[in-house]
Amino acid sequence: MANDTMKKIVSLCKRRGFVFQSSEIYGGLKACYDYGPLGVELKRNIKDAWWRDMVHRRDDIVGLDCSIIMHPDVWKASGHLAGFCDPLVDCRNCKERFRADHAPRAEAGSECIYREGGRADGKKLKGIVGPQGYTCPVCGSGDLSDERLFNLMFRTSLGPVDPMQQILNSVEELAALAPDERKQKLAGIINESAVYLRPETAQGMFVNFANVLNSSRVKPPFGIAQCGKSYRNEITTSNLTFRTCEFEQMEMEFFVKPGEDETWYEYWRSARRDWYISLGINPDRLRLRDHETSELAHYAKACSDVEYFFPFENEEGEGEWGELEGIANRTDYDLKKHAEFTGKDLSYFETETKERYVPYVIEPAAGADRATLAFLCDAYDEETLEKDDIRTVLRFHPRIAPIKAAVFPLVKRDGMPEVAEGIMKELLGEGINCFYDQAGAIGRRYRRMDEAGTPWCITVDSDTLNDKTVTVRERDSMEQKRMPIAALVPFIKEHLK
Ligand code: ATP
Repeated sequence: MANDTMKKIVSLCKRRGFVFQSSEIYGGLKACYDYGPLGVELKRNIKDAWWRDMVHRRDDIVGLDCSIIMHPDVWKASGHLAGFCDPLVDCRNCKERFRADHAPRAEAGSECIYREGGRADGKKLKGIVGPQGYTCPVCGSGDLSDERLFNLMFRTSLGPVDPMQQILNSVEELAALAPDERKQKLAGIINESAVYLRPETAQGMFVNFANVLNSSRVKPPFGIAQCGKSYRNEITTSNLTFRTCEFEQMEMEFFVKPGEDETWYEYWRSARRDWYISLGINPDRLRLRDHETSELAHYAKACSDVEYFFPFENEEGEGEWGELEGIANRTDYDLKKHAEFTGKDLSYFETETKERYVPYVIEPAAGADRATLAFLCDAYDEETLEKDDIRTVLRFHPRIAPIKAAVFPLVKRDGMPEVAEGIMKELLGEGINCFYDQAGAIGRRYRRMDEAGTPWCITVDSDTLNDKTVTVRERDSMEQKRMPIAALVPFIKEHLK
């Protein structure tokens, strides 16, 4: 059942224009996706809801929009250059390359069953689990390479000199050098212009801490929020937009006085979980998972993930918990590191107490693409109606629904299209995204809107011409009620609050 659900969601995404494979007419590019007309609205609504709730509705958080390429030393200070690595392993049977920490665990030396060549129709063979204590996630084999650490940051070069061309031009000179000298020379050529696409937006907030403090009259406890693209050269990508190399993050760094960090950590931990529920996520499919001490990053005092139960394919076919957001107590690690590397003072002087301190940071770090996928999966429903008729419906919360209302003339004559177009214009003028449809039977028009997750369908009929009322059909209950045209805008706006 779960496997089927995900397949159906993927197919709906393409059919209705939520998500497309990137560069599809060229055969696609692994793990890169484009958002179609409905998808872009959904994701934008989620990001807007996050910004409204995190920045506009609070007086203690300000926004920021940093460049994606930053000074390369930022990543030295943050530890990403040395430590932002995944353990990479190759399967000798099916040649899959995967992350060791994501592989199915199995006791070293025990027997495992695997598919020859990794093919679904390949012969089932018996093998032995290697000393690593896990097997290949694709074919189940225990015959694996050693782990190699692989840095997830995308490197590029800034400036007019292309280091690869420089290397090509110096091949002979390089060949004549002793191995150590050659390595040094190569590193010099590459590092001279090397810059990185940011793997997280957080560092932009830390390096601008003093700028924001000095320009915005904020004082701890206060937060800096940012929403933007991040890049990670992920080894294994799967499940539509869950894990991709280019993705969008919604991160907020909340600077607090040391000693008040634990209270704020608890606050953000529950506030962030509640945010997903406030936008309609089923609480039974959402959980907070505290990290074990062994899982914590070396700088983190505590960390908790908001996880959603996705209908992903796995051996049991029952879905899987996946991280939507991590809430971490990052202590004063980042500010202190940037202060150490730059020699700049990143402390705060509290005038009331005459105390100087480096703030601790509580970070709720969410992914806009994962949230979009979770809202899509959660909204997906198939309802069995009379005569085994199945209705596919996306039950989005009105705040995030891509289209808020559809406007239909019952028939294409008698002045109904003109009245419907007038309603459409009025709604659009009020900033309510709506859709006009006059093609086909009314029932089919309703169904098309159910699949797009549109909360209300407004129908203009012959009575409208006499009494200026319309039928409003509600997506979830399918109930229809009569309403004056003049009441439509306040009715819809009330639900979008
Ligand atoms: P994971 O363990 O799944 O790799 P992470 O713990 O490394 O994630 P963070 O560094 O905490 O992730 O990033 C914050 C959020 O950014 C994640 O909760 C997720 O929503 C999003 N995110 C991180 N990596 C990706 C990715 N490759 N594709 C899509 N979203 C991502």
